[in-house]
Amino acid sequence: MKKVSVVIPMYFEESVANECYNKVKNVTENLEKYDYEIIFVNDGSTDKTLSIIENIAKENKKVKVISFSRNFGHQAAVTAGLRASEGDAIIIMDADLQDPPELIPKMLKKWEEGYDVIYGKRTKRDGETVFKLLTAKAFYNILNKLSDVEIPKDTGDFRLVDKNVADVVCNLPEHNKFLRGLFSWTGYNQCPFEYERKERVAGKTKYSLKKMLKLASDGIFSFSSKPLKIIGYIGICFIIISIIFLICGIVIKDKTELNIILCIFSLFTGIIQISLWTIGEYISRIYDEVKGRPEYIINKKINL
Ligand code: UDP
Ligand code: MG
Repeated sequence: MKKVSVVIPMYFEESVANECYNKVKNVTENLEKYDYEIIFVNDGSTDKTLSIIENIAKENKKVKVISFSRNFGHQAAVTAGLRASEGDAIIIMDADLQDPPELIPKMLKKWEEGYDVIYGKRTKRDGETVFKLLTAKAFYNILNKLSDVEIPKDTGDFRLVDKNVADVVCNLPEHNKFLRGLFSWTGYNQCPFEYERKERVAGKTKYSLKKMLKLASDGIFSFSSKPLKIIGYIGICFIIISIIFLICGIVIKDKTELNIILCIFSLFTGIIQISLWTIGEYISRIYDEVKGRPEYIINKKINL
């Protein structure tokens, strides 16, 4: 019998944990052709999330728990869940039921048709702020312009991945994984399915602006080296502009006003800072790889 694993990362999700389990269990228990397991990954929550999922795991041996020693981030939590999965097909979903578990049978049907990655594409996003919608749109546009790998728009991590694809991605040595990009990068047979993303059933988003920026910079800097080239082009443009200023100054014998000097000075300082920041982003990633620290530390495991 084939097995389906459902990986659910959790960070301060005490208000949704039980409902999430009940809904996912209802769907997976009724899958006639498949056995199932549910892997909850507690990403360092210090509320009641861990004790709730521990109790669930005591009652149902098909529920497995991984608990991190601290918050290592959503992508690390999903990676740990993927590594622990024994299923032939693995479903990644959020704990807050924004990604409807009722769609699991439909995803499995596509998998049986031969697709290796079946990713959710959001046609509607309820309960998201205008800021989040606009920044997400801008991010995917920039990412696709910069990256050599096509990363589908309006997608998140809600998807089904074949065990083979999960193994490839989990065995990549890189840290700061941007999973949706890496799945796309593997190039296996992929297919989207459209769904309406609902509001969270309870609680607030756990993706702070800082975490969103971290995810976005992982996406951009791990999938493109074009920013390094772009700052070079900008540098050349500004050298040309400064030569034009110099020639104009000599030919017209124009005495430059102090404010123009200041304006140009601050502009150049800004460009140098942006250039340094861009280089710094790459260096910090190289540094992370060289240090070779683990992506996460597991503190506790249940039923695994
Ligand atoms: N999450 C996590 N670690 C984090 C932040 C979030 O494991 O540091 C989990 C969170 O519990 C949820 C999923 O990742 O299951 C997506 O987070 P959230 O729903 O808050 O993000 P949003 O849907 O608002 O983008
Ligand atoms: Mg959510």
